[in-house]
Amino acid sequence: MSEELDGGCTCGEVRYRMSGPPLFVHCCHCRWCQRETGSAFVLNAMIEADRVVLLKGAPEVILTPSASGKGQKISRCPACSIALWSTYSGAGDAVRFVRVGTLDEPDRLPPDIHIFTMSKQPW
Ligand SMILES: [Zn+2]
Ligand SMILES: [Zn+2]
Repeated sequence: MSEELDGGCTCGEVRYRMSGPPLFVHCCHCRWCQRETGSAFVLNAMIEADRVVLLKGAPEVILTPSASGKGQKISRCPACSIALWSTYSGAGDAVRFVRVGTLDEPDRLPPDIHIFTMSKQPW
């Protein structure tokens, strides 16, 4: 099976390819991720920025508050505003946190670890 993973936004304006497997995949249950996704957790695939290749379009980078207080940069489709990946001040622009749900085959990246499980939904 190919190790490449393609993904994109909902309207199709932005398409990208992960050219290899991620460093790891985390499932974050923190309140911030719950709010940003409108769900119980987020799945992020951490990968070196140079392994995320844009196939189409140009994401718009939105500076967004983060739990650390230092902010995160969320790359969104300029047309439909779907969030594709984030970078954080800790890891810098070298590592992207790709939203697994934006992949064409999100089933291929199950989480390696669960974090912030203190705020995990009780169900
Ligand atoms: Zn879009
Ligand atoms: Zn989180």
